[in-house]
Amino acid sequence: MRPTKVARAAGSGASVPVECCQVCGSERLDDVLDLGYMPPVNQMVPIGDVPRQQPWFPTHLLHCRDCELVQLGLAVDPVIIFPPEYPYTSGTTRVLRDNFADLQRESAGMLGLGPDDLVVDIGSNDGTLLSNFKSAGIRVLGIEPTDVGDIANSRGIPTLKRYFGIEVAREVKAEHGPVSLVTAANCFAHMEDVHAIVDGIVEMLKDDGVFVTESHYLIPLLDTLQYDTVYHEHLRYYSLASLKHLFGMHDLEIFHARPIPSHGGSIRVYAARHGSHSVQDSVRRMLSAEPRGENMARRLAKFSHDVLLSKLRLLSMLGELKEKGARIAGISAPSRASTLVNYVGLDSALIDYVCEIPGSLKIGKCMPGTTIPVVDEARLFEDQPDCAVIFSWHIADELAPKLKAKGFRGQLITPLPVPRML
Ligand SMILES: [Zn+2]
Repeated sequence: MRPTKVARAAGSGASVPVECCQVCGSERLDDVLDLGYMPPVNQMVPIGDVPRQQPWFPTHLLHCRDCELVQLGLAVDPVIIFPPEYPYTSGTTRVLRDNFADLQRESAGMLGLGPDDLVVDIGSNDGTLLSNFKSAGIRVLGIEPTDVGDIANSRGIPTLKRYFGIEVAREVKAEHGPVSLVTAANCFAHMEDVHAIVDGIVEMLKDDGVFVTESHYLIPLLDTLQYDTVYHEHLRYYSLASLKHLFGMHDLEIFHARPIPSHGGSIRVYAARHGSHSVQDSVRRMLSAEPRGENMARRLAKFSHDVLLSKLRLLSMLGELKEKGARIAGISAPSRASTLVNYVGLDSALIDYVCEIPGSLKIGKCMPGTTIPVVDEARLFEDQPDCAVIFSWHIADELAPKLKAKGFRGQLITPLPVPRML
C-alpha cells in the first residue's frame, strides 16, 4: 500500500507534518527522538547583518512499526532547505572522493560496464561521481536541479538541470535508450516522494539494469550517536530492512549491500528487478545484524537517552574550560554542525568563531541560528585559541594531523560520540 497522505511541503513555502509512514503509509509511528526546534542548516546570515526573525522547525524522529523506517516527523519546503545558492559541492572531501572512485570500480566491475552502457546519477551535484565513470570510458548523464549542475556541465559531465521524476525518466530513455546503472548517492533520503523517484528509476532501467543507492545508514548513526546528522534535508534514515521493504513495493530486489565510510557510516545497496541478479550473502548477513520490532524500539529509546547525556557532558566539558578562562573555537561548519550547535545550545559567548578552509562559501556568514561567525582558518593559526571543537568529528582522524601540521598548538576536542580531548 502506498502512503495516502504523502507529506508534500514543496510549494507550500512552509512545512507539513508527517502523518503516515513515507514508505508504507502506516500510521503506527512512534516518537523516538526530539531535538526541539532547529533552523534550516543552510540558513546562514552574513556576519554583522541586523538581526531579523528567522524560521525554526520542529526536528524529531518517528519509527514506523510496520516497515521499520526511521523518519523525520516534518517535511520542510525544499525551497527553504535547498536555496539556489546552496553552498555544498560533493567534490570537496577526500573520504567522499575516494568513495565515489570505489563505487565506480566496484559497480563497473561487478556489472561488466563498457562503452555502450549508460550510467545516470540522480542528484549528481558537481559531477564528481560520474567523472569516475567517464574516465573509464562509460557514457554518463547527470540529473541535478540546482546551479551546481553548471559546474558539472563545464567539466564535461552532461547534466540535466531538472528535478528527477517519471517525466524526466521517460525523456532520458527516449533520448539515450534504457539505462544500465542508475546511482543515487546521498540524495535518496532527501526527496519528498520516494515512490515517485523509484517509479522513475524503474521506468528507465534496462531489464537487467541496476540501481545503486548510498545513504547514511541508521545502524552506525545509532551506534556512534550521530544525532547531528538529523536535520530537515534528511527525511529518512534507512536500515537495510526498511530499504528492502521500499524496493519490494516496486518489485525490486536487493542483491548486494555493504557498509561504506562516507558521512561517518553509510550503506551501499544494489537493487534490480526481482530474479535478474543472484542475491549475495551480504544481504542476509546485514539484515540479520539489524535490530527489528521491539528490539529496534528499545535500541532507539537508548539512543535518545544517550543523546541527552552527550549534550550534558559536552556542556560540562566546555563549562569547565570556560571557568578557567579558555578561549574556544570551532573547526569546520558542515551541515551537521548546525544541529549540534543548536541542540547543545552553543553560542557566540562560548564559541568565538568557526573556521572553514579558504574558498568555503560559508566564510563571512554566521552558523545557523546563532551569531557565531564562520571565518577563514588562517585566523586559528594567528589567534591560537586554547581549544577548538572539531564539528566534522567523523573525519577528525583526517583533520587533526593537518591542523597540527599547519601550526595549531591548542587542545583539540571531538564532541561525539563521547566528548573527548584528543
Ligand atoms: Zn512504514
